[in-house]
Amino acid sequence: MSGFWPDDVQCGVAFTFDLDAETMWLERAEVIGESPVMLSEGAYGPKTGIPRILNLLERLGVDATFFLPGKIIENYTDVSREIVHAGHEIGYHSYLHKTAASVEEERQEIQQCKKIMKDLLGVVPRGYRAPGFEVLPGGLDVVAEEGFAYSTNFMDCDHPYVHRLNEGRSLVELPVDWIFDDSAHFFFTFHEPSRGPISTPARVLEMWKAEFDGIYDEGGCMILTIHPQISGRISRVRMLGELIQYMQSRPKVMIAPAGELASAVRIKCGQ
Ligand SMILES: [Zn+2]
Repeated sequence: MSGFWPDDVQCGVAFTFDLDAETMWLERAEVIGESPVMLSEGAYGPKTGIPRILNLLERLGVDATFFLPGKIIENYTDVSREIVHAGHEIGYHSYLHKTAASVEEERQEIQQCKKIMKDLLGVVPRGYRAPGFEVLPGGLDVVAEEGFAYSTNFMDCDHPYVHRLNEGRSLVELPVDWIFDDSAHFFFTFHEPSRGPISTPARVLEMWKAEFDGIYDEGGCMILTIHPQISGRISRVRMLGELIQYMQSRPKVMIAPAGELASAVRIKCGQ
């Protein structure tokens, strides 16, 4: 039993999918110019990765969280609606996957994206993930003022906690880390700034299982950051399925959308 979860929960797990799609390539487009093939690397996410991932989640009975940039909701409205109709949570992930220049600029961007989500998807986001996890100094106060319930950006803990903010506001933090981010393991591109080398799914599965075993023992949380344009590949989706089944074989694991984990933490902490 841990201090963060209901009595019948040993640890929390959220599969979060950042559908950055083409926006992930914008910084590279500024350097090398727009390349149709480079942009197609991003299009793989909504076109090919999402259907495969939605099938997997449905087959294994897992509800997840999808962080969608506003521009991607506009460009791929039907795909975004499929995600909503499948019962998954939608979270905020900027408009164009760029870090805002100031907290005031970010406030405007949040309001713009909330309107897009409401108008096109009929949802109000409760979760905030900054592009590249780059939260601005003072940014969480704006996020809380805009009505969000949780942030999932910081890397300082293996368990959830609560940010105490101005005027008595608070946000639950569901911490992430690069070890749980598929881009650190699988993202290779020819275009600078490139990353590599490409890992095997087996190596990543071994790492994630070992982390999960420890987090389970300690009663913490494991928040995975997965990009459909990267992990939508066949061998990686199959690996995700193996990981989910491994987690489901253990008792008292709460695998849920990040928003549900945040609500459980808030109730337990009496917030
Ligand atoms: Zn992203």
